[in-house]
Amino acid sequence: MAATITLDTLVDWLKLADAAIIEHSDELTALDAAIGDADHGSNMKRGMAAAVEAVDAGGFTAIDAMLKKVGMTLVSTVGGASGPLYGTFFLRMGGALAGRDEIDSATLAAAVEAGIGGLVQRGKAVEGEKTMLDAWYPALRALTAHPDDIAGAAAAAAEAAAAGRDATEPMIATKGRASYLGERSAGHIDPGAASTALILGALARAIAGEAA
Ligand code: ADP
Ligand code: MG
Repeated sequence: MAATITLDTLVDWLKLADAAIIEHSDELTALDAAIGDADHGSNMKRGMAAAVEAVDAGGFTAIDAMLKKVGMTLVSTVGGASGPLYGTFFLRMGGALAGRDEIDSATLAAAVEAGIGGLVQRGKAVEGEKTMLDAWYPALRALTAHPDDIAGAAAAAAEAAAAGRDATEPMIATKGRASYLGERSAGHIDPGAASTALILGALARAIAGEAA
């Protein structure tokens, strides 16, 4: 197993994430119907499709330019709270990878950390508020724990994100639309944590060599 990944793997990631979002779109919308406005599946499907189209059309040769294009496309097409949040994630992740053609596990962890930093700056949430951060942070901790093994790191991150998603179920939302429900938001998985788990599952599969 290679110790590093290149642009091609990240493009596979995007495409596998798009496919996973399409496959689970109805589930994401059902989760959002319970504690939001039932648009998370369609929001994400629209955004990921536009991002794949933009990357295919762009002929990118640099990792940072490709990821920034994904970010800008998500900001402008997803709508809702999640568009600017995911968009900022990819913009910042791209920024952290400027000048890089190859990424090892520690670099990937640092780039994801930068992406989360952007997301936090934008959304002003912390861990435990029943948002996508409750999947991102456990994933980041798992990535950081495997600095010499990028495939192992990504697999652990995917697992941690799924566990983080499940852990949002009993939480009471204090950020985003679900917070309007107060205590009634408990008992439902957060849709954004669910989409984050799908995106990180796709990353693990891309790094393991699954072609898009
Ligand atoms: P909207 O809430 O505008 O309809 P979406 O349904 O697409 O947007 O996305 C909702 C998801 O966005 C939530 O499930 C949550 O994970 C995430 N979210 C909302 N507000 C925040 C925030 N301030 N910080 C982090 N994530 C947030
Ligand atoms: Mg919504």
